[in-house]
Amino acid sequence: MLKQGTFDLKTGAGLIACPRCDALHVEEELQDGETARCIRCETVLASPRGGAFVRLIALSFTTMVLMMGAIFFPFLEISRMGFGNATSLFGVVLAFADGVLLPLVLLMLVVVAGLPVLRAFLMVYVLVPLAQGRAPYSHAARAFRWSETLRPWSMAEIFIIGTAVALVKVAGLASVHLGPAFWAFCGLILVNVASRSFMCQTTIWDAIEDSGLATDGRELVDPNAQASRT
Ligand SMILES: [Zn+2]
Repeated sequence: MLKQGTFDLKTGAGLIACPRCDALHVEEELQDGETARCIRCETVLASPRGGAFVRLIALSFTTMVLMMGAIFFPFLEISRMGFGNATSLFGVVLAFADGVLLPLVLLMLVVVAGLPVLRAFLMVYVLVPLAQGRAPYSHAARAFRWSETLRPWSMAEIFIIGTAVALVKVAGLASVHLGPAFWAFCGLILVNVASRSFMCQTTIWDAIEDSGLATDGRELVDPNAQASRT
């Protein structure tokens, strides 16, 4: 464990690089409410907020509950001249179950519903012990890395924007009533925005490292092996 303000150029321990411009900074422990910005491009490097872990856990559970509603409640109801039909996302999957579009529908279900729920589970797995001040679970570093890798692929917002565009087209042909699942998706977008505003990856990595868990393998480097390579 390095002392505050010291760093090791061989391993990179004690240094933090700006994710946008790569400027290197000496890492310092921040107090809650402080913000560290890049000296060159002013990108936020870290901004720990008090109680952020507990809020992120709460938002992850909210995501799971809302997603259940978003999948199984009716998404929309279309009616014209007295005939109507309502369906849920799960109903759409069942309707395509024996068609050639099944792989596409399953892929849609995975990126729209599966990945956000999986990320919520990973966040709970990583953050619950940290929020309680205990040592994290043994795969916490890998779980958080996966959660960050999957972030661009969870597409609930894109789905709702696409649906809104399609609804504008359909609204001229028949009357469309939005079901509870649509509003659950809108709620998911707000939860996602809130979750991003509390999320500080640097702080979470720092908390995992401070509890003694190896995050990038540099703690495991054998100094003799390092010397023979250089
Ligand atoms: Zn920068």
